[in-house]
Parts: sequence; structure tokens; C-alpha cells
Amino acid sequence: MAAQDIPQMVEALRASFDAGQTRSHTWRDRQLRRMRDMLRENEAALGDAMKEDLGKSHFDCWLSELNVLCDEIDFSRKHLRSWMRPERVATPIHLQPASCTILREPLGVVLVLGAWNYPIQLTLAPAIAAIAAGNCVLLKPSEVSPASARLLCELLPRYMDPSCIRIVDGGIPEATALLEQRFDHIFYTGGGVVGRIVMEAAAKHLCPVTLELGGKSPVIIDSDVHLKVAARRVARGKFWNAGQTCIAPDYALVHERIEARFLKALQQAIRSFYGASPEASDDFGRIVNDRHFQRLTGLLEGQEVLAGGETNSEARYIAPTVLKNVAPDSAVMNEEIFGPILPVLSVRDMDEAIGFVNARPKPLALYVFSRNKETQESILSRTSSGGACVNETLFHFAPHELPFGGVGGSGMGAYHGRFGFETFTHRKSVLNKSTAVDPPMAYPPFTAAKQKWVRRLL
Ligand code: NAD
Repeated sequence: MAAQDIPQMVEALRASFDAGQTRSHTWRDRQLRRMRDMLRENEAALGDAMKEDLGKSHFDCWLSELNVLCDEIDFSRKHLRSWMRPERVATPIHLQPASCTILREPLGVVLVLGAWNYPIQLTLAPAIAAIAAGNCVLLKPSEVSPASARLLCELLPRYMDPSCIRIVDGGIPEATALLEQRFDHIFYTGGGVVGRIVMEAAAKHLCPVTLELGGKSPVIIDSDVHLKVAARRVARGKFWNAGQTCIAPDYALVHERIEARFLKALQQAIRSFYGASPEASDDFGRIVNDRHFQRLTGLLEGQEVLAGGETNSEARYIAPTVLKNVAPDSAVMNEEIFGPILPVLSVRDMDEAIGFVNARPKPLALYVFSRNKETQESILSRTSSGGACVNETLFHFAPHELPFGGVGGSGMGAYHGRFGFETFTHRKSVLNKSTAVDPPMAYPPFTAAKQKWVRRLL
């Protein structure tokens, strides 16, 4: 599919939408079921593709990509009828006899631009929500993970209704051609620079956007913590997918009283997860491409490496790395790291940690480790982030009942479960009035007597 074919493709999708092909529960349910079949029947090939792109193990591909998607599909299918149902709401007395209803209406033709770090999950999860909501969908996976993108482009048309769901394999020229089209919603996952390009293009058509961006997600470690558990959970969250997770802890602010012990526990955790040589571990991934590898090794320059630091450019391997005594104005603290490097900074107290976080753009996630309830609450209420965990990292992503999304610089809008369905849905308000009663009081001329009655009633 070349960039010049894109306008035609969008037109064809619009014709299918206008013909009402995507409206029924049956169509939506079947498409979701077919996507599930695709994921189940091609688990090995999808695992191979993600191994090629990111060095992920097959188990990790199943756990953090395919299983997440199947779970989302099952949840959506289970609740779809109730989400689609018209919602009756109260009608004020002065408008009676009438009924008030909210109808859930699909938006139309929507564009999903996926990211490369979880290349299958972050391309298909928004599509699940869009299909559940009854839209036609055009997907573009990220060209940065080419094996996964290629395979998805090959599989999707074999399983899903090609008149309503299409996929484009391509890079910036295709993304640019797509963004020139009129969509009814654009769902973008990726960095803020492209996020701005997406929003600008969408503005030309007054098209709403969901931007799932990133940022520097802090982890704050209080002095009153279970050190071993905290270190293990921070290390797991940071080094999963070699740090290429949008909600990975970006840096740690550690209470000075326990900093030395925390660093020791962190080193122990890394060793217990990946052994003495993480390069040989099946559970530790690779950097997606040379450009990101160069960027990340550049961030290590001039830093004090406490653990890790080894690199292998041929394999695009960067060891799980911990930096200490990091200056807040150093390069590693001024851009999202998105790799297996954890800067640790010590703070005098939690007020200093809060001040540090609040002096920077609002992050996608924030993690608090403390056994003290007051400390937990104080940090949560005095900072703003897309989501948060207390005494854990990453897993606020998982529950269907929690909306997932950013705030401020980390994005806008949210999805997962019903929140995704609502993102791709227009809530149409309908008042249905009876004609049996038609009091003259509601019509001009508003005489003094009528005004008196109306004032009394309202
Ligand atoms: P990327 O390079 O994968 O880009 C994403 C999409 O934008 C791709 O489809 C790409 O083709 C398109 N694109 C790239 N340049 C473009 C241009 N000039 N014009 C139009 N389209 C263009 O994304 P990335 O920035 O490398 O991704 C990493 C970032 O994504 C990190 O900041 C990370 O935190 C964030 N992220 C966020 C989430 C989330 O759920 N919030 C998930 C994953 C990644």
C-alpha cells in the first residue's frame, strides 16, 4: 500500500461506515473474536517477530502483549451489550411528559498510530476499543519495529473484515499522508514531538485526538519502606523490555537515610533477576535500533555508574545500569530515558521529592514506596501524574476498571475497558417528548401570568 492510495482507502472505509456495516453487536463481537483467533493461532510467529525487533522472550511476548490483548478482548466482549445499551436518565419535572436517553454512537472512521516498544499490544489495544465502539479503523504500526509491523500487516487482513478494518505498513511518508485525511478520531501512542504533529494535523479537520505520550516517571522511595521488596519492584519495572516501557520508572528519588541500603538492594535484585551476565539472560531485551542505542550510550557519558554500564553495539545490548550522584541538570535527567538506565538521586525528605517532581512536566506515572499511609496520601495529593502505584510499579496499567492515560505533557484522553469504548463513542443526548400534553405556558407571548407560573415551576 503506497502513500498515494491512502485517500482511497479512507474513502472506502467511510463508505462502509456510512452503510452501517459496523453498527451491530454481531459485527463488533465477531471482529473481536477474530482478533483473538489471530493472536492465539499466531503466537509463535508474533513471538519471533518481537524477538527480532526487541529481543523479547516468547514468554514476555505472551505475558505483556498477547495475553493483555486477549484479556482486553474478553472483557470488552463480556460487557459490550451493556456498554452499547441506551442509558435512560432522569427527566426534570418541568419537561415532563418526556424521556431522556444517552445513545452511544460510534464516531466513524478512526486512525490508530501504534508505537514500537510493545508493537502488537500498543497497536491493537486501541483498535479493540474502536471496534467495540462500532467504528471503522485504520491502523498504522510503527516502522521502528519492522518485523512486528510486517507480520501484523500480513495477518490482520486474513482475520478481520477488510471493508471496515485496514492496516498500512509504512513510516513517516505514510503517517504524513494519513494525517492529511479527515478522520473522526486519531489515537496516537508515542513521543511528544510527533504528538504535536498529530494534534496540529487533526486541528485542520477539528478531529479529536487521544495522545498516549511519555515523560519522566519518577519513583519516590521514603525511608519507611520494605527495602528488598521496593528494590525488586523498581528493578522489575525499570528493566522490563530493557527499559523501553512508557510507564517504566525513569529515575528514583531516594530518602538519604536509606540511599546506600537501597542501592545495595537494587544491585542484589538485578543480579537475582538476570544473573551475573544479563546479556545471556532470556528475560532481558535489546534496544530497538542503533539510533536509540547511540542516544542511550550518550546519556551514560560522564556519569557515575554504580552497576551495569556494559554495552555491546552489535547486539544493541545495554546492561541494567544504575547511576548514582546524578546532577539534576545532566542530560540523563532532561529527557525521557526509555532504556535500561536508572539514575538515583538522594533527597532530604519527601517534601524535597515532591518539589523536584512538581518542578518538571507532569509524568505519565508516579510511584511511591512507603509504608506510611500519610506519606503515601501526601505524595499522591500534592503531585499530578497520568497514573500512580503505591508500593508497586507498572501494574496500574493492568486493571480494566482503571483508565490508562496521561495528563499535561504526558498526554490526553484514556483507554482500557469501558474508558476505551467511551473514547471512541459519541454520547448523544436525546429528549423524547410526548405530544399528549402541550400547555400554552411554554410558548410566547410570555404574559405576566405565564411568567409567574414559569418562575414558580423552574
Ligand atoms: P515512534 O517513532 O514509534 O512514532 C510513533 C508513530 O508516529 C509511528 O507510527 C510513526 O510512523 C509516526 N511518526 C513518526 N514521525 C512522524 C512524523 N514526523 N510525522 C508523522 N508521523 C510520524 O514513537 P517514539 O517517539 O519513538 O516512541 C517513544 C515514546 O512513546 C516515548 O516517549 C514513550 O514514553 C511513548 N510511549 C507512550 C505510551 C503510552 O501508552 N502512553 C506507550 C508507548 C510509548
